[in-house]
Amino acid sequence: MTLPKAATAVAAALALCALAAVAIGPASASQQATASASRPPVIDRPIPFGPKRKREMAAYSKRHYGQGRWRLRHPRVIVEHMAQTGTAAAVYNAFAPDRPDVELGELPNVCAHFVVGSSGRIYELVNLRTRCRHTVGLNWTAIGIEHVGYGDGDVLGNRRQLRASLWLTQWLRCRFGIRLGDTIGHNESLGSPYHHELVPSLRGQTHGDWRHSSMRVYRSKLARMKPCRPRG
Ligand SMILES: [Zn+2]
Repeated sequence: MTLPKAATAVAAALALCALAAVAIGPASASQQATASASRPPVIDRPIPFGPKRKREMAAYSKRHYGQGRWRLRHPRVIVEHMAQTGTAAAVYNAFAPDRPDVELGELPNVCAHFVVGSSGRIYELVNLRTRCRHTVGLNWTAIGIEHVGYGDGDVLGNRRQLRASLWLTQWLRCRFGIRLGDTIGHNESLGSPYHHELVPSLRGQTHGDWRHSSMRVYRSKLARMKPCRPRG
């Protein structure tokens, strides 16, 4: 993947979309994943996430959540994002370098677990057992999904991309027992019962991607999908 011309602008836009946060979550309700759904085709494209980046993620978690961990365990929330860029390669290139993000200037760099391309291809960028900086206040417990495109309507109006996104999200919901209402858009982050942030200046921080009106449509489509089936 080659670095896009507007790499800096892309990085800035992505950083607008992907930030980190703080605090420990509400109860450690032991939601057991009691169901399964078929796994969509996923292409493995891991960004570099070596020991240094993991140490930085643990330190970030300590600063923002009071827990010095980089492992993502029992995720409770899925956050949908818009990448503000036109290709999955540009998303990869923005997340891969471990440099301070342009919005908050913190390490490690921002990232998301998946990106869904406009063709409907799904790429896994970060292992689901690793925390990613994509949503202030929720990174301790949230899986992040980026979408290629510039606005929520781009995905809602693209059948292949929307189908892939819904399939991926439903599979994750079933795998981890995540409730429909905890499948949110980035712009809904402050209303999540799992939102926590130890840095006072960031407690009201969110972004404009995937607004409530779009997520109402998205969740209604999710609700109509084949339900999770008990593991047998
Ligand atoms: Zn976002």
